[in-house]
Amino acid sequence: TATGGATGKRVLLAEPRGYCAGVDRAVETVERALEKHGAPIYVRKEIVHNRHVVQTLAERGVVFVEETDEVPIGGLLVFSAHGVSPAVHRSAAERELRTIDATCPLVTKVHQEAKRFARDDYDILLIGHEGHEEVEGTAGEAPDHVRLVDGPDAVDAVTVRDESKVVWLSQTTLSVDETMATVARLRERFPDLQDPPSDDICYATQNRQVAVKAMAAECDLVIVVGSRNSSNSVRLVEVALGAGAGAAHLVDYAREVDPAWLAGVATIGVTSGASVPEILVRGVLDLLAEHGFGSVLPVTTANETLVFALPRELREARAQR
Ligand code: SF4
Repeated sequence: TATGGATGKRVLLAEPRGYCAGVDRAVETVERALEKHGAPIYVRKEIVHNRHVVQTLAERGVVFVEETDEVPIGGLLVFSAHGVSPAVHRSAAERELRTIDATCPLVTKVHQEAKRFARDDYDILLIGHEGHEEVEGTAGEAPDHVRLVDGPDAVDAVTVRDESKVVWLSQTTLSVDETMATVARLRERFPDLQDPPSDDICYATQNRQVAVKAMAAECDLVIVVGSRNSSNSVRLVEVALGAGAGAAHLVDYAREVDPAWLAGVATIGVTSGASVPEILVRGVLDLLAEHGFGSVLPVTTANETLVFALPRELREARAQR
């Protein structure tokens, strides 16, 4: 455990942290589309939930819109990593937009599961956060079959048509433990509840939670770099606190670290959400070093090697580099 005093000051740096394969692909999709087609290109919603990424792309000529009707007829529109419902694809087609789909393949996988279970006329209990773009997209695949379950406390209000034909699916970026608590409550109500064919919570979400858990109990403070609307980043704060961190805070930038948090602290854990570029973590580490936390020890719980191919429309552009 941590010891006090200036000499005991240290940082534990979670590994893995930061960009996942889906975010890397989505951001590169927009960069390549800009190179190939020139500004302006349009992106529906934030390409990934990170302020820095969105601002940087906006400065380079990307126009972020809420809906397809804000894009001029014939314009080039990129769909974000979180996925879109078939209705959004249809409205883009009606406006004759050229589209590139940067939906993470692991989100697409959940869409396929929703479609398949809807075809078999199951009631689908989708565990996720109300209003999050990903659950809106997934639910839109089968609006008549999907019921959203926003955490264990929402279970009592769930109704289904046929208790023998019920399956649960989930948003990819939830807390593993909380989701399992929700599933346990659902199963008490619906004993025949089926599990999804494979984990919906993605490898990156799980790996980042495992890494922060491994170090949280040793940390007087955990700093998670990430944006407030980034589901997986917010989950990392909750997981750190649940695993015994003395305190945990979410920051977009180093300048948001309050020096008061560092008073009397010996061990600080640092990690970042799946949508966070490493440069922002570097900024936090530099700031901590200025406060005497120059000793940085990695805590590695997994090595990630997954890479997703770019959308078909852009593969050539990558090959030419
Ligand atoms: Fe894909 Fe998971 Fe990354 Fe989301 S967090 S973009 S589901 S890899």
